[in-house]
Amino acid sequence: FLCYRKGKTPRRPALKKTNNVEKDPVGVYCRIRPLGAEDEECCVEMISSSTIQLHAPDGLKANRNGEYKETQYSFTKVFGINTGQMELFEDVARPLVEDLIQCKNGLLFTYGVTGSGKTYTMTGSPGEGGLLPRSLDMLFNSIGPFQAKRFVFKPDDKNGIDIQSQVDALLERQKRDSQQSVPKTPQKADLEFADMITPEESRKSKNIDEDCSYSVFVSYVEIYNNYIYDLLEDAQFDSVRPNKEFIPPQSRILREDQNHNMYVAGCTEVEVKSTEEAFEVFWKGQKKRRIANTQLNRESSRSHSVFTVKLAQAPLDADGDYILQDKNQVNVSQLCLVDLAGSERTSRTRAEGSRLREAGNINQSLMTLRTCMEILRENQMCGTNKMVPYRDSKVTHLFKNYFDGEGKVKMIVCVNPKADDYEETVLVMRFAEMTQEVEVARPVDRPIYHLAAGRRHRNQAFKDELSRRLEERGGPVNGGDSALMNQLIESLPALPPCELVDPTDDQTLPRLIEVLEQRHRIRQMMTEQVTHTANKVKFMLQQFDSQMSSKDTFVHDQQSKLNEKEKVILNQKTEIERLEKKSKTLEYKIDILQKTTEMYEQDKRSLQQELEGQEQMLQKELSERRRMEQRMQGVVTDTKLKWEKECERRVNAKQLEMQNKLWVKDEKLKQLKAIVTENSSGGSFPPEPPKKPERPSRERDHTMPQKRSASPTALPTVPPVRPTHRRSRSAGGEKWVDHKPASNLELDTVMQPIIPNAIKVSTPNEKALSKCHKYVLRHQELASDGEIETKLIKGDVFKTRGGGQAVQFTDIETLKQECPTAPRYNISLKYPGLIMLLRCSVSLQMYFGVLFMINKIEDSI
Ligand code: ADP
Ligand code: MG
Repeated sequence: FLCYRKGKTPRRPALKKTNNVEKDPVGVYCRIRPLGAEDEECCVEMISSSTIQLHAPDGLKANRNGEYKETQYSFTKVFGINTGQMELFEDVARPLVEDLIQCKNGLLFTYGVTGSGKTYTMTGSPGEGGLLPRSLDMLFNSIGPFQAKRFVFKPDDKNGIDIQSQVDALLERQKRDSQQSVPKTPQKADLEFADMITPEESRKSKNIDEDCSYSVFVSYVEIYNNYIYDLLEDAQFDSVRPNKEFIPPQSRILREDQNHNMYVAGCTEVEVKSTEEAFEVFWKGQKKRRIANTQLNRESSRSHSVFTVKLAQAPLDADGDYILQDKNQVNVSQLCLVDLAGSERTSRTRAEGSRLREAGNINQSLMTLRTCMEILRENQMCGTNKMVPYRDSKVTHLFKNYFDGEGKVKMIVCVNPKADDYEETVLVMRFAEMTQEVEVARPVDRPIYHLAAGRRHRNQAFKDELSRRLEERGGPVNGGDSALMNQLIESLPALPPCELVDPTDDQTLPRLIEVLEQRHRIRQMMTEQVTHTANKVKFMLQQFDSQMSSKDTFVHDQQSKLNEKEKVILNQKTEIERLEKKSKTLEYKIDILQKTTEMYEQDKRSLQQELEGQEQMLQKELSERRRMEQRMQGVVTDTKLKWEKECERRVNAKQLEMQNKLWVKDEKLKQLKAIVTENSSGGSFPPEPPKKPERPSRERDHTMPQKRSASPTALPTVPPVRPTHRRSRSAGGEKWVDHKPASNLELDTVMQPIIPNAIKVSTPNEKALSKCHKYVLRHQELASDGEIETKLIKGDVFKTRGGGQAVQFTDIETLKQECPTAPRYNISLKYPGLIMLLRCSVSLQMYFGVLFMINKIEDSI
């Protein structure tokens, strides 16, 4: 018996979670009213059942230079001028009433310029009832016989409905009746429901759940200047003021209920039991609205009116006698019928002063409605999540949950095709077109409480079928009891007529007594039978109970075991959690340590690299230094060797020279001795040996030392001193030994001694000397002026008697170079390499000086 029933709509949270909620676009209908008698030009044309075309009025076209084109607008459906109220109701409002009965919320509003037929469409006129009376009529036609008694359903001031017992409801009814002790004199209303709809036009829903109980509450509010006024609140008259002066109504505030529906706090909700009653209440509110508008100088076209029909329904018990006393089972749905204020702009009405403010506010409300629709559409189409400013006006705030939550929304756009309204109508059309693109979540059916419509009928059918089958199988176990019971019931004698018309009638009463006695007996038997059956059932129940209790103990045992296990699991879980936490902290620590280690290792690596680099550099420097040392050592030993050799050579040369001189002196002494001895023996002195000739100072100095044989023992036959001096014999055909010590510097002088036929040697050797007759030594030394001078010490080569070679120096040629400008010390700066040479030369001079001194000593000896 599970069935799907409607829920307490709308429920916003459920919707927001899911994206695959089914949505329906706002149904936008267009109704074109007939042109008024005074209007001639028609600007609206119905092209098809869903399209209209707007024609700019001729005057406007001429003024605006063809700026206005013919534009078409599409709607869910268009209702032309000939559409009757019934047809409109069938298409637009009837589905909403069906939804209301199915516990789904609905919102229907009329929108348009003042005079376009909004009120006509919503309320209607006598004989042509609008959507409101028709909806009420259909609702009551459908739920009529299933309505709960008054006060069983009771509004709870939080937009919900409470449920109370039949008795409480009865007591409340009595209380109210006693309060209204003076029975209301039925006043003839200005307009009665009967005036609005003919009985033939009544409609009824077929989807009524007969196992439910229903109740209708209506409320009627007006929103004016963004204030909400309750049109059904009891008229307050100031008791102090004698003439029952009119007191302006108090504005109401909006609240949100637990289902996120907005409601007017403290608003009067009147429980109505029939269409007539409901319409009467509506009319009362309408009257009040009119009075307020007149008293407060308001314009009714500038206010929005909201008539709400609230339907409460709750399931009946299995026998259909009582409503289930459970508030959770009460389903409430509502249908709001809204007649909006005229959509025209303020300027059109030329409102002034307070009217201007009102108009501004009205426009503001409708402006907010437009903004809300635009943002909703944008959010839905572009997937944005912009905030919809419902709260900016009371109208939009009140209906927030229809758009935000779920429900069915329909709008009838009323159009007056007259030319004056053209510009406003264009704006209305644009809003209508945009609103059609807004989607509203479709109210969902929800399964509730396993109760289905028609369940009592089905239950009965099930029972009948069961007993039929049991009978077919030979009757039930306690079939005897029920059969006996049935027999007893059937044997109950019918009550005879007990009306006493004749005082002498003595038959009727005894007959009645007899029948009653009979019935009493049967009743006793039935009681016994019932007691018997009850005992049987009791016994069975006890048995069942004991079975259940044993099962219970078993279940209990299991339960306690389960509990223990659960405890253990819980403990383990906490332990696991603790360990997990610990491991997490440890992991964290490890992480930190690893990172630190990495950092240190990186540092270490970079330092090692640096160290290696420095070591390499050091090594390089060391090897470089060693190399340098070796080179320097090589240079030093080279130089040392060179100079040692040079010194040796010079000492040798000097020695030779000295020896020569000694020899010459010896010879002279010998000659002198011979002369002396000759003279002493009577001989004459030999002629003076020729003096060394003085030559004019030239660049090239020629000194001619005396020549002697290398061997001191050799006695020349001719005096060794040559009588004449030849300047140079280098041009001759003699072979020369050109001795050029390795230590000699290459001087870049113009005059260079060139000796042809010369064997060039760096150290004199016997072999070279044996081949030549002439010997020349190129001796370099530092002159007194610091310049280097080269002396060519020339000599003749003789063969000694022992087979050796001896040189007799004969001539010295000096080659000297002078720098006319540079001072002496510049040499050392120019040629730093010469410094050492100079020093050596100085030491050579000293050496030669010493030698000379030795010679002198020898000479003196
Ligand atoms: P609104 O409420 O939009 O200001 P009303 O409903 O008061 O406009 O309509 C203004 C006038 O036009 C009323 O006299 C009404 O009877 C008439 N009217 C509006 N619509 C229709 C219609 N469809 N058929 C006939 N008369 C209409
Ligand atoms: Mg109106």
